[in-house]
Amino acid sequence: MSKYDTTKLFSLVHIEEVIKDYLPIQKIGENYRCKCPFHHDSDPSLVISPRIGIFKCFGSGCGETGNAASFISKYEDIPYAQALKILADKVGRPDLAPKAQTKEFKNVFEINQFALNLYSNILFTKDDLSSNARMALRERRITQETAKLFQLGYSPNSWTWLVDQHLDNNLLEQANLILKTDAGHYRDYFKNRIIFPIFHQKKLIGFTGRTLGVSQKIPKYLNSKDSDWFKKSKLLYGWAQNAQQIRRQKEIVITEGQFDVLQLHQRGIQNAVAVSGSYFGPDQANLFQKSVKKATIISDGDKAGIEAVIRIGEFLIERNIDSHIIHVEGKDPDDLARYKHRFNWEKLNTKYGYNFVEFCHEHKGLESTLKRISGHRNKLKLSQDLKILSNLSGYDEKHLEHWLAQYKKAPLTEMLDLKKDELKLEDELMLLYACDNINVPINGFLKNRLEKNLVEVIKNKPEGLTQDLARNTKYASRLSIIDNIKDKDKYAKDLITKLNLKYMKKEVSKNKKLYKETQDSKYLEQVESMVKNINKMKLKVRNGQSYSSSIR
Ligand SMILES: [Zn+2]
Repeated sequence: MSKYDTTKLFSLVHIEEVIKDYLPIQKIGENYRCKCPFHHDSDPSLVISPRIGIFKCFGSGCGETGNAASFISKYEDIPYAQALKILADKVGRPDLAPKAQTKEFKNVFEINQFALNLYSNILFTKDDLSSNARMALRERRITQETAKLFQLGYSPNSWTWLVDQHLDNNLLEQANLILKTDAGHYRDYFKNRIIFPIFHQKKLIGFTGRTLGVSQKIPKYLNSKDSDWFKKSKLLYGWAQNAQQIRRQKEIVITEGQFDVLQLHQRGIQNAVAVSGSYFGPDQANLFQKSVKKATIISDGDKAGIEAVIRIGEFLIERNIDSHIIHVEGKDPDDLARYKHRFNWEKLNTKYGYNFVEFCHEHKGLESTLKRISGHRNKLKLSQDLKILSNLSGYDEKHLEHWLAQYKKAPLTEMLDLKKDELKLEDELMLLYACDNINVPINGFLKNRLEKNLVEVIKNKPEGLTQDLARNTKYASRLSIIDNIKDKDKYAKDLITKLNLKYMKKEVSKNKKLYKETQDSKYLEQVESMVKNINKMKLKVRNGQSYSSSIR
């Protein structure tokens, strides 16, 4: 912007008209007066002089002064250049607004900061452009205080909102805040999104934008593109705000969503960060691994969320950080925290909390858990985990240790194969019963669903069966493992429970399908009673009674 433009602009501005839009003013002589907005004013101490176009506060210790643009800039807490633009619009001469500001930005981080100020400013200005964003935050019960603390912003629903701010397009493009279209025009990268700034070592390196649109075609979360200074693998959202608490408590809470961090913060959990589970890696862990002893990982509640949690937990084991997992099926932390009366951190930790071994064993099974705890560097922690795993699986600790040693030696591909070769529950049951005298009867419901041959084998245990089975190498290696189980009856009960649940679930989906086809309510009744039984069984499992022969 040339000096000429500014002079021209100010010649058209009446400062009293500008201030009047913000505050009630009163004419006294040739000047105007109002209460000063920049200090706690009881008298009208701010004097506006239309003749020279400036304001000055005469309140004790205040002394704020400036022209119409400085008033707007101070009052709205926006950059001076932006205030000039507002003035230019006010007087109907947008052509006099500041244009490119090439020299004002030294680098990408500076222009990021400037863009963030614009995004924040529009979010917190009661403007129609951003009313849906404020509504979205209200719906999520994010307070303005939290939004300001985390420096949220909003990119309006326009392809050229940022482009139209006339900043340095080259630098904006470098910062990935705008893109050049095939037609050679610039357009905004973030559109109609809540903007979360990402800081790294005090530099604003990039953003994540959460869409307010409903279209399935656009990504829910959009990150700045990867560049030399911004890597998704470095993304640890909330670290800048919560690092101090994390270091003080030596504990970190890891979630997958930006909003989760905000929600938790509002509920007093001020040591949370968000990572993108699939990108979690050494860069993020390096930030906190020295200062943290324990991590609480909150699962997203769905299948992908479970996978991510296990990956993160495995990673932390290698860094000697204890993992505690909170998992509520089908609910993410944002869901949990949104309703104040239902959010109870204590309860989440006790009722829905698991240690890593428990969680991994429940969702991935024994082999997979063993493989994952093989990363322990601390022998004491490893033996603690083996003890838990021994209790969960029924295998002797010594045996698990031996097995673990095999895992450590085995190349990765072999481990994957082992997983593929996992036996079906039915096979496992057969091998178990073949291998020893098991004093656990198979209930009628299950008996009717197992293959006749299998039931026959279990009942009669023909001579030489074990050896016969052992001809199959897969069975042989499994038999030798099963032979080492301490409490085989308990293991049998667990297996029978699992098989019962499996067939009950099959029954449910079969009846659901039949009901859909026939609309006959008897199928619906079947579904209902079966679901009741499943829940009963799950409850018993939770209370430590893994098996009940009372099931039909
Ligand atoms: Zn004042």
